Amino acid sequence: MPENWLSNYAYAVLDERGIARAANRRYTARLALLTVAAAFGGTASRRCRCCGCSRLHSLWAFHSVHHTQTQLTFLSANRIHAVEQLTAGVIMIVPAFVLGLPQKLWLPLLFAQLFSETAQHARVTWSFGALHRLFVSPAFHVIHHSTDEREYNGNYGRVFSLWDVLFGTFVHSERTSRRYGVEGMDVPERLTAQFLHPFRYLWTQR
Ligand SMILES: [Zn+2]
Ligand SMILES: [Zn+2]
Repeated sequence: MPENWLSNYAYAVLDERGIARAANRRYTARLALLTVAAAFGGTASRRCRCCGCSRLHSLWAFHSVHHTQTQLTFLSANRIHAVEQLTAGVIMIVPAFVLGLPQKLWLPLLFAQLFSETAQHARVTWSFGALHRLFVSPAFHVIHHSTDEREYNGNYGRVFSLWDVLFGTFVHSERTSRRYGVEGMDVPERLTAQFLHPFRYLWTQR
């Protein structure tokens, strides 16, 4: 059982909502594993899609729909191709099922991630101060959307910027203004055009 007042308070709140029974040690370890697995999986997949390697054109084809936005807003996180969204969902959910985690434990994680990704694209300059090299902040992610090659080839993290620190892809910039999008790649704002874009792109790359 928790021993300090903060843990006691957290358990009391959780217990009130009937969650405490599920939040035992067994699930705590699995939840931590899920957080790391999903965050690493998301980072790895984002890196694959963004690196521009010719063998990975099909991954970039779908991810580029997200990157072709020239103006970022809090809605930008939702401009994701259906195929990519499905893949990201599987990466997040499958480990939860494999680990046997109940929905009431992984669902809050999912909402936290959605909030984080919304903030990452909003016009805010949060950098989380000393935690900048641990958690992905809005200031960290917008660099990944830059048209500048020195900036977009980095900051692949989805939840933890620590992965980029460890793998040498962490990019820090004090710039307050930059251009966003992909040079030479314009995708119309229409939903059908965005859906068809990856298939057209792959057709031209044959
Ligand atoms: Zn990307
Ligand atoms: Zn983004």
